[in-house]
Parts: sequence; structure tokens; C-alpha cells
Amino acid sequence: MGVPVAGGFYKEGLIPDPRNIRSRCSAWIQQDGFSLVIDIGPEFRLQSISAGINQLDAVLITHEHMDHIAGIDDLRMYNYVQKNSIPVYTTPSAIKSIKTRFHYLFGAERYPGSTRVSFHTIHSPVQIGPFTITAIPAKHGSLDIIGFKINDLCYLTDVKELPKESLSLVEGAKVLILSALRWGPKHPTHLSIPEAVVLITKLGVPEAYLIHMNGQTKHSPSNKKLPNHIKLAFDQQTIYL
Ligand SMILES: [Zn+2]
Ligand SMILES: [Zn+2]
Repeated sequence: MGVPVAGGFYKEGLIPDPRNIRSRCSAWIQQDGFSLVIDIGPEFRLQSISAGINQLDAVLITHEHMDHIAGIDDLRMYNYVQKNSIPVYTTPSAIKSIKTRFHYLFGAERYPGSTRVSFHTIHSPVQIGPFTITAIPAKHGSLDIIGFKINDLCYLTDVKELPKESLSLVEGAKVLILSALRWGPKHPTHLSIPEAVVLITKLGVPEAYLIHMNGQTKHSPSNKKLPNHIKLAFDQQTIYL
């Protein structure tokens, strides 16, 4: 979630620790000169500048909610500089939704100079640059979404539940990045932090980072309560694998 929320409500307690100030969730993954991003939310432009993402070879999208796709317009500068369209890997439902909501990017009426993407769905493990990428089906309330296993890393956001077949896809990962909305109460479409801890323990992943927390979730006190191998992530954090 974006923290503080629009309007700056409840921001006072957050300001003393910059790790409490959170952009919408996204991850930039690089290896051997290949660069991909998972989700492009409304702050993608600012995040890309802070992180120095000056090349983009692929985009993976978990689902069609606006906090994960609203930055699609800003891909156009990569089209312009790289002189190519950007491959986007996601679900059939997200493709349909993006084409409806961003109708001016597609078809005969495509607005000149706007973002150019080419869509791909992932049914079985695919090789994208140096990465072997597997889609991990997940439930976000009633919505079917996907996370990704990228070599030894798993990225799962906006998860409420992992179906049985997805548990075995995550097992063996060295690092898991998983969403958790708040300590409590439970939420119908997002894992709470205690629910995420139970899931991580069940999966046996040795290192995990929580993302997508709300403004009531403070960084340092939360980390003190969490098991040693689970930490809240923070904006612009770097993880080496
Ligand atoms: Zn969502
Ligand atoms: Zn979200």
C-alpha cells in the first residue's frame, strides 16, 4: 500500500522512521545485464528514478489492481530509448483488464507515442533472459492472481491463500517476498502478518521479507516481534542472491 495514505492521514507516527514511508509494491530484478520489473504501480516513475532503472527488458504483472499496473504509461520512455515494445508476462484476466482500462494503448486507435507492450501468459516455466520463471497461482480473495518464482526467489503479493499445488512450487526457494497487510484484524483478501508467518513457516523458506503493509504497521516494532528470518521490507531495499 502507499503509506502514508492520500491526504496524509495518520502520518504523524510514521515520520520518525523513513522505512515507514512506502511506495506501492514493486521489485526490480537484475542478472547478467538483464533487467525486469515485477508490477508497475502509480509510483513506478519515481521508483525507477530512485533505483536507476535505465533499461527494462521485461515486466511481470501479478494482477490487474491499479496499485500494480497504474504505471504502465511510464513504460513509454523505455520504448522510446530502447526502440522496442516491452514484453509483459501476466494472467489472461489481467491482460483483458489492462486492454480495457488502457484502451488508448491498443488497437487501431492506439494513441501516438503511448506505451507499447506485447503480452504473454505463463503456463509452464519460461526462460526470460537469464531467469527461469514459473507462475505461482494464488488467491487474492475471489480473484485468481499469480506470483513468480525466479530462480531461487519467490515473489507473492496480494495473497490471501496459496492453493495446494502452489505450495510445492515455493518450497526450495531461498528467499520469499510475501505480502502481509497488518498485524490484525484479519482481512478478506490479504494475509495478515501472523497469517503470513504461519505460511512462511509451513513453506520452510529460510529468508522472507514482508511487503504491502498498511500505515498502522511500523517498521522497527514489527521487526522486533517477528522471527529472525522474517523481516518487513522497505523501499529501495537491495537483496543479493
Ligand atoms: Zn490487489
Ligand atoms: Zn495491491
